[in-house]
Amino acid sequence: MTESADAIIIGGGIHGASLAFQLARRGLKPLVLERRFVAAGATGRSSGLVRMHYDLEPESALAWASYRIFRNWGEIVGGECGFTRTGFLQIVPPEANDVLRANVGMHQKLGIPSLVITADDVRRLAPSFRTDDFELAAFEPESGYADPTGSAAAFLAAARSAGARLVQEARVTAITTSGGRVTGVETEDERYAAPIVVNAAGAWAAEVGRMAGLELPITTWRHDTAFLRRPPDLGPSHPTVIDFTHLMYFRPETGGLTLIGLEDGNPLGVSPDTGGDQAQPNFVDRAVERICRRMPGMERGSLHSAIAGYDGLTPDQRAILDQAGPDGFYLECGFSGTGFKIAPAVGACMAEWIVDGKPRTVDISGFGLNRFAEGRRLTGEHAYGEIWIQ
Ligand SMILES: Cc1cc2nc3c(=O)[nH]c(=O)nc-3n(C[C@H](O)[C@H](O)[C@H](O)COP(=O)(O)OP(=O)(O)OC[C@H]3O[C@@H](n4cnc5c(N)ncnc54)[C@H](O)[C@@H]3O)c2cc1C
Repeated sequence: MTESADAIIIGGGIHGASLAFQLARRGLKPLVLERRFVAAGATGRSSGLVRMHYDLEPESALAWASYRIFRNWGEIVGGECGFTRTGFLQIVPPEANDVLRANVGMHQKLGIPSLVITADDVRRLAPSFRTDDFELAAFEPESGYADPTGSAAAFLAAARSAGARLVQEARVTAITTSGGRVTGVETEDERYAAPIVVNAAGAWAAEVGRMAGLELPITTWRHDTAFLRRPPDLGPSHPTVIDFTHLMYFRPETGGLTLIGLEDGNPLGVSPDTGGDQAQPNFVDRAVERICRRMPGMERGSLHSAIAGYDGLTPDQRAILDQAGPDGFYLECGFSGTGFKIAPAVGACMAEWIVDGKPRTVDISGFGLNRFAEGRRLTGEHAYGEIWIQ
């Protein structure tokens, strides 16, 4: 027998979960199909940074609208998202000072708490940091990080209590259509009918797109992270940081740990099904060398763990949010290694699009699929350049 739903969401990561929550609270009965388990993809490996500093205004607007959900999670969603306020610093090399100032101005116009501070200010905020190789940083006092797996689980728990259904170990193998409209999907074991199907399949989004006859310009992006034990004399915590000077980001983690990821050396095109989840052999050495440039005291730290994850990456390293291919087929994918922090607002926008015919929370019209065929790339007015460097 074919089961039916109001909408089928392919993928039980943070985006599938956020959309299921938003659809269910609008009275729909969505069905989430997940090939493994909730947060088995990028979400379960995500570093969870929650900051609003982007050079593209709609991304900052999405992050800011999402931030308000992270901060008021208990009332809006229920359960826990693990938001931890640490303050966020965006450190840039001196040649990017003007770009930094312009972007902070853009953030302030959106209402985001952000200001430009000097290297001396950073030294006071983070005494363990070396501060003689940059002049200015952006500071977001309210930002920090959250727990991606916990957030996805909480979104799905709330969605299910409002009528959504989640089926795990259900790999979608085909999308069915009739007269140019989606009619549902097939998994290895079942058929499901729905007038709406959403591709929220992360690093597998290109494969799912092909099931609907679409060639999506999404490759896979593999990203290693390491947790290092911090020497206790470096203090109980430190700000969350994106450090363009040294091509890395880092943040504190409970238990006296510091989490590090690098902006370079993230291989493209590796299959998440065969590439494994061990960090690359030289990654830990590179991460330790890099963090010691900013926090010299980390020379006395030690390795806790290192792991790899995968996300879908587009040519301009920005998401695809669209309705494309057969009628009723939606794209919420291509998050390019930065999609956790915007997931709450993206889910709201996509639900508004599906239910009301138009997103309202944020103008997401720039994230359409056609930009690639038309040779356009989404770039900020004051661009830093691509975050992920080969
Ligand atoms: C190591 C790492 C660190 C990151 N750090 C940050 C960060 O600090 N801040 C930030 O904002 N972003 C970060 N990101 C990016 C962010 O985590 C991702 O953009 C986001 O989690 C993507 O969520 P998603 O739901 O689109 O994809 P996923 O979480 O990958 O979920 C997609 C799901 O679809 C399922 N699926 C695939 N194919 C099928 C199928 N055929 N049938 C059924 N199910 C299917 C998969 O099993 C998977 O669970 C990071 C990513 C990685 C990998």
